[in-house]
Amino acid sequence: MPNTDYTPWYVSPQSQFKLSDFDTEPPSKGLPSGDELEEHLADMGEKLDKLQSTLHAAKTRGLLVVFQGMDTSGKDGVIRSVFSHVSPLGVRAEAFGVPTDLESRHDFLWRIHAKAPARGEMVIFNRSHYEDVLVTRVRGMIDEETCQHRYNNILRFESLLHNAGITVLKCYLHISKSEQKKRLQARLDDPRKHWKLQPSDFADRELWPKFTQAYEAALSATSTPESPWYVVPADSKPYRDSFVAGLIVQTLENMKLKTPKPSFDLSQVQLT
Ligand code: AMP
Ligand code: MG
Repeated sequence: MPNTDYTPWYVSPQSQFKLSDFDTEPPSKGLPSGDELEEHLADMGEKLDKLQSTLHAAKTRGLLVVFQGMDTSGKDGVIRSVFSHVSPLGVRAEAFGVPTDLESRHDFLWRIHAKAPARGEMVIFNRSHYEDVLVTRVRGMIDEETCQHRYNNILRFESLLHNAGITVLKCYLHISKSEQKKRLQARLDDPRKHWKLQPSDFADRELWPKFTQAYEAALSATSTPESPWYVVPADSKPYRDSFVAGLIVQTLENMKLKTPKPSFDLSQVQLT
């Protein structure tokens, strides 16, 4: 890939943008070959592993990577391929489904905050607090006013994390409706993938325009320079993986992490 400028995919704060302004397919100009993408992903994976070690050693900063997207957009897939290069000790993945009875009696950020990274940690969210302004809004479980309050709560929450040294990097995996059809069909055709299907996948597909609007409003309201949203072209799996891996590496490199100096005089050590 060799792309290092991610600004075209950054959602400008309060931009009222349209998702249709962003391609779901990789840019056609200068598109790297499959081999190049694989090589880039391997390189980024190696860098990610080293950066994670430094993050852990330094304990000055933390990273939270949030993945959102329509059903079949590849949240599970990107997590598997990008983080398979990192030591399992160095990363924690959390998935959020329909809130339990206890969770739904708390404020919507309660279960989220409990899983947020500490300094020294890298945490991945498969779905997140954004479900509380997306699916809930589309299905009419919250009204417009509650949704606006939640945007503000989210901005404050992410600012709280930022002030504690935790960067929140948010990726919207952007697929086309036709690509979703192919992926749902592939799941229907493969008995080993049937377990992944839920009735809501088909019901939500019918609500595609409403989900699109809800995503546009949520991303525009909550993208900030400190906690940015990126719209990742996700119709091509190898491109998506390479893109996300590069973006995470860049985010960690921008932290300018340093391993701490030893707390004792190494020259005094005598190995027997
Ligand atoms: P999956 O990611 O395929 O395991 O599906 C998880 C399901 O949980 C999706 O249908 C989400 O829309 C739903 N979900 C996640 N968080 C919430 C939430 N806060 N409120 C309602 N539904 C949610
Ligand atoms: Mg699903």
